Amino acid sequence: MPELLTQIRDQLAALQEQKLLRKRRIVDGPQGPLLDVDGRQYLSFCSNDYLGLANHPALRAAAQAGLDQYGVGASASALISGHTSVVEELELALAEFVGMPRALHFSTGYMANMGTIPALVGPGDIVFSDRLNHACLIDGARLSGAQFRVYPHADVARLEQLLAKSDHPRKLIVTDAVFSMDGDIAPLPELLALCEKYDAWLLVDDAHGFGVLGPQGRGSLAHFGLKSQRILYMGTLGKAAGVAGAFVAGDALLIEWLLQRARTYVFTTASPPMLASALLAAVKLMQTEDWRQQHLRDLIARLRSGLASLPWPLLPSETPVQALIVEDNQLALDLMAGLREQGIWVPAIRPPTVPKDTARLRISLSAAHSIEQIDQLVSALHVLANNYAGNKIA
Ligand SMILES: *Cc1c(COP(=O)(O)O)cnc(C)c1O
Repeated sequence: MPELLTQIRDQLAALQEQKLLRKRRIVDGPQGPLLDVDGRQYLSFCSNDYLGLANHPALRAAAQAGLDQYGVGASASALISGHTSVVEELELALAEFVGMPRALHFSTGYMANMGTIPALVGPGDIVFSDRLNHACLIDGARLSGAQFRVYPHADVARLEQLLAKSDHPRKLIVTDAVFSMDGDIAPLPELLALCEKYDAWLLVDDAHGFGVLGPQGRGSLAHFGLKSQRILYMGTLGKAAGVAGAFVAGDALLIEWLLQRARTYVFTTASPPMLASALLAAVKLMQTEDWRQQHLRDLIARLRSGLASLPWPLLPSETPVQALIVEDNQLALDLMAGLREQGIWVPAIRPPTVPKDTARLRISLSAAHSIEQIDQLVSALHVLANNYAGNKIA
């Protein structure tokens, strides 16, 4: 066997040994609280479809209409011939919705961050990154060639020390707004104040806040009432918005610069216009039917009070991402399996996605869940906790 293949075979075996080998499950049918996985129906708490829009009739109809009007593919990059009228309309609607001068549509959130950071900073500059940031902020920062400094999670005082020492011409702070594996909210007002004090810039990744936080789901900046030329706001469109894609919003000059220079915008085929049609319907629904955000808040409160007496702590979180920390990788897998036997699907999240010894169940809630479904999960977890106390899990 060639050397590379033996190495990779051994590395895969090591992952298996450490219980870190991932397996994909086969899902059938549309996303929703009831999910068909490997041929069986489960009550699902694993999706980021926070508003229950991924299979909403209004979005389906809009996608169909977009399909009839534009066909399937965009055929070229936006700068050649792929920028359709419906995407233009979507960018205007998104900028207005989040209260920013201008927005640029990207095909995914990963690409948005990978393109935006290197367009803003380069060698000689510096990026400050929260330790729990999403992989694509880290990868984007590394790709930029700027110096990369990690600060402890949400530690504004430590970040200020680092900023005070920096004499780099451009300083960029990058942060998740809602941390994807913990569910807590970044101290955005404090981060912005540091930007103003130290002439730095702030890139906010609102993948889990857009559509969820703030009035009508206008996002984390609206949640705090923040507005500043120093902020670039990245929202993703495959989670609460129910479809796919992302956008970056901010000062019109910055957005024009991204349009010219973000390589993941310039050198990629524009996404199918029918997705933008569906997204316009999603943004409209967020504004006309904000009962979804209220229902989500009710579900979150119900879950948190129901799980308060478990032997495992729930991290503090007012968002639909609720992390039950069990620490041990095998226990996380056993609990996941135990829930699955009861027809409930909650993902176990292990290193390297989260730090060592913080394996967890990541419960994500959707406005499409009912109170009864939350109660079902709560009682199933209590049954498992009792078995665990008697060493009987799986
Ligand atoms: C999901 C996610 C992304 C990536 O967005 P995609 O559109 O799925 O590529 C970026 N940042 C955070 C924090 C995320 O959770």
